[in-house]
Amino acid sequence: MRHPQLKIALVEKENRFAYHQSGNNSGVIHAGIYYKPGSLKAKLCVKGLDMTYKYADKKGIKYIKSGKLIVATHRHEVPRLLELYERGLKNGVRDIKLMDSKELKEVEPYCNGVQALWSPHTGIISWGEVTQYYVKDFKACGGTTYLNFEVSKFAEAQEADYPVMIIDNKGNAIQSKYVLTCCGLHSDTVAVLTGCPEEPKIIPFRGEYLYLRPSKSNIVKANIYPVPDPRFPFLGVHVTPRIDGRIILGPNAILAFSKEGYRWGDVNFNELKEIIGFSGFRKLAMQYAGFGLKEMARSVIVPLQVKQIQRFVQHITTADVEKGPAGVRAQAMAKDGTLVEDFVFDSNPGSGAIGSRVLHCRNAPSPGATSSLAIAEMIADKMKTEFNL
Ligand SMILES: Cc1cc2nc3c(=O)[nH]c(=O)nc-3n(C[C@H](O)[C@H](O)[C@H](O)COP(=O)(O)OP(=O)(O)OC[C@H]3O[C@@H](n4cnc5c(N)ncnc54)[C@H](O)[C@@H]3O)c2cc1C
Repeated sequence: MRHPQLKIALVEKENRFAYHQSGNNSGVIHAGIYYKPGSLKAKLCVKGLDMTYKYADKKGIKYIKSGKLIVATHRHEVPRLLELYERGLKNGVRDIKLMDSKELKEVEPYCNGVQALWSPHTGIISWGEVTQYYVKDFKACGGTTYLNFEVSKFAEAQEADYPVMIIDNKGNAIQSKYVLTCCGLHSDTVAVLTGCPEEPKIIPFRGEYLYLRPSKSNIVKANIYPVPDPRFPFLGVHVTPRIDGRIILGPNAILAFSKEGYRWGDVNFNELKEIIGFSGFRKLAMQYAGFGLKEMARSVIVPLQVKQIQRFVQHITTADVEKGPAGVRAQAMAKDGTLVEDFVFDSNPGSGAIGSRVLHCRNAPSPGATSSLAIAEMIADKMKTEFNL
């Protein structure tokens, strides 16, 4: 939209868009409560929420402002809940309020807690559907899309005007002036293709959901979350209504045995070897081995997972749930085992045309779907300066 004079193409390795994270997530429009005040994550989420609602209104995409409760089930969680409230205020999240257990019951009669934080503007949407609208808009602006195009190599072309050749795994090539890569689970592998360092590495964590049986779907209306553990802010099994009327419980977070490991049986030995050989992963695994094992046990033994939910909605029993979908999170990790929470852009200016003309977005941290329109603006600014557009 900003550069109508440019010819822009989008390449995707799968046979449809939103095949991975963007189409396999919780479907929540996040309000921006959790993130560190002043951080890019916080700003982009708060802005992204407004942009999402405006965009969905304009395009007629269905969403529900279901609201969200973060529930403290024990007294010892209250100080952390109050911290989240302060954070939310600092981040400019509108209309959040603290509720006592009586007010909580008025909003969600089946939910138990000593205190809760209510965020009325949190919503639900199908991010897969939103992606299809982005693609339609892109094409309407003159963009071209190539599906089944798995970028496997970059090479330098002779032609001075279009010096970067993007080559797929079947040998098809596209020549271009500039390239931006946003490859989610494969963003580290693709960055290495132009000589960038291996780190931060992407470690795939599978998030599995349970479905609540339709007979019980009337017992909750809002998104209900526990107070997060500050060490693992993205964890915490929650209850989420979906736009299709079903209710999902989850996700957990367990190491996937391949970048696209949606099930236990999806194993890619080369990728697994790389993960286990990575010093950052080994450090994290050693530090939190007990925690990781418990998550794995909860994945296999459904009643253990249900027990997590019963802390705040006792009426949900194992008989009320069935296996649901799964998504795989691209978790960027540094060599020392820390989880990378910020955006990471990378290029290799030392390697001629390819280095200076290929920019990699190696980490677009969650909640990347909510923030997507705001992220797009930021990336467009970045490309303008990097490439002198
Ligand atoms: C379980 C889970 C729950 C989540 N819940 C929420 C939520 O409720 N709300 C929210 O806002 N966010 C949520 N998120 C985060 C959000 O989904 C992601 O931040 C966002 O979708 C990331 O988008 P992306 O385009 O960076 O990655 P992706 O959607 O994964 O897209 C990357 C694309 O690159 C393609 N690709 C990779 N390698 C190549 C190659 N070599 N050649 C060509 N194409 C390639 C892939 O096929 C893929 O389509 C969740 C994530 C997960 C995993």
